[in-house]
Amino acid sequence: MPVIFISVSTPQFFLDEQIRAQLVVQKYGGTSVGTPERIKAVAENIAATVKRGHSVVVVVSAMGASTDELIDLADKISKNPPGREMDMLLTAGERISMALLCMALHELDVEAMSFTGSQAGIITDTSHGRAKIVEVRAKRLCEALEKNQVCVVAGFQGVSSSASVTTLGRGGSDTTAVALAAALKASACEIYTDVSGVYSADPRIVDKAKKLSNLSYDEMLEIAATGGRVLALRAVEFARNFGVPVHVRSSFSPETGTWIRDEESNMEDPVVSAVTHDTSEVKFTLERVPDEPGVAAKIFRALSDEKLNIDMIVQNISTDGLTDISFTVPADERIKTIAVLEDEAFETGSMGYQSNENVGRISVVGAGMKSNPGVAATMFEVLASQDINIQMISTSSIRISVVVAKEDVERGVVALHSAYGLDSE
Ligand code: ADP
Ligand code: ASP
Ligand code: MG
Repeated sequence: MPVIFISVSTPQFFLDEQIRAQLVVQKYGGTSVGTPERIKAVAENIAATVKRGHSVVVVVSAMGASTDELIDLADKISKNPPGREMDMLLTAGERISMALLCMALHELDVEAMSFTGSQAGIITDTSHGRAKIVEVRAKRLCEALEKNQVCVVAGFQGVSSSASVTTLGRGGSDTTAVALAAALKASACEIYTDVSGVYSADPRIVDKAKKLSNLSYDEMLEIAATGGRVLALRAVEFARNFGVPVHVRSSFSPETGTWIRDEESNMEDPVVSAVTHDTSEVKFTLERVPDEPGVAAKIFRALSDEKLNIDMIVQNISTDGLTDISFTVPADERIKTIAVLEDEAFETGSMGYQSNENVGRISVVGAGMKSNPGVAATMFEVLASQDINIQMISTSSIRISVVVAKEDVERGVVALHSAYGLDSE
């Protein structure tokens, strides 16, 4: 897993200890602020939190599907919009929700103030569309908190070291929330969403998925990295690196959700905690690759120079000094990947490539896998019994992933969930 290095300091400014002790960071996702009624309901929840004596920093997403709508709008104007302008456009979504939520809070006589990512001191690198937070300068938030204001921050955005507005990648409001919780040393970060926690599989696919009460950072990292989009991967990395306990819960009901924090692993850990899936990647196969030192390095350096997010990589044994290498990339990076592979500067010899969009990944994740052999054998047997062909395999100490045909993904997930004894009663 990638490690992030950031400074989450509040230079020259320290939050009063009493305020810090009562501080909670709450993040509300798109569905949770999807309509005026939902925004009013969120305001009620925040007002109740304030009444219980807490100081609150709120992070909001754009309303409903408005980020998708803005992307569609841009697509009608340009197929290759400048990153700076795309980010300027997309950050508008979160600005709408933050202002409306502050209005709803004022209606309830709760003092609140909205902040764009830039105003909240979220400083990022310059990669438009997927900027990384490099520093949080939370001075203005600290000042507002000390005046008993609720701070409402637009998620998913920041300002780069070269003063351009940036976005943090899809799902980035989770990252804003956890980064602020880390910077302000809040006792916890609450992620309010449209499901009541992290489930043993996506509840939209598996009816019998059950809510998991506790997860370690490592398990959640694997779940987030393999398609469990309930929490963004970068947010989990922050939480782990800065020890922020995260509570994923429903904005529609008060029940306890899933706590993600440092969990000691022990022999009692479930062998498999969750089955995840991801259908947002494409598979590339490079054919007739010379099987000699330095070739893979050259290929993957060229892809990495274009900042392409290569995921699974598999190389076959060679015949006649030539081999095949397959790898996966996010589907929205397909065109860029092809541009690298077809670049004349990229000497390929007789090498060719194929791309396949009809693929999906299924993964099983569980901290107990470390001490229990046979998880992979069971996985492959279950998929075989469903007549599902495995195209690629990769593993970590607590995860096994396979790439299969897209149409087999849901069937495979349901069968595996049942086979590992995860189905709820
Ligand atoms: P938000 O808008 O609140 O950020 P998201 O749509 O990003 O919400 O994430 C919540 C969705 O994540 C759920 O509606 C669910 O379909 C999906 N999801 C995928 N895998 C899981 C899982 N293992 N547990 C819970 N939800 C999951
Ligand atoms: N609105 C952004 C998105 O849809 C960020 C987020 O919701 O976390 O990806
Ligand atoms: Mg999300």
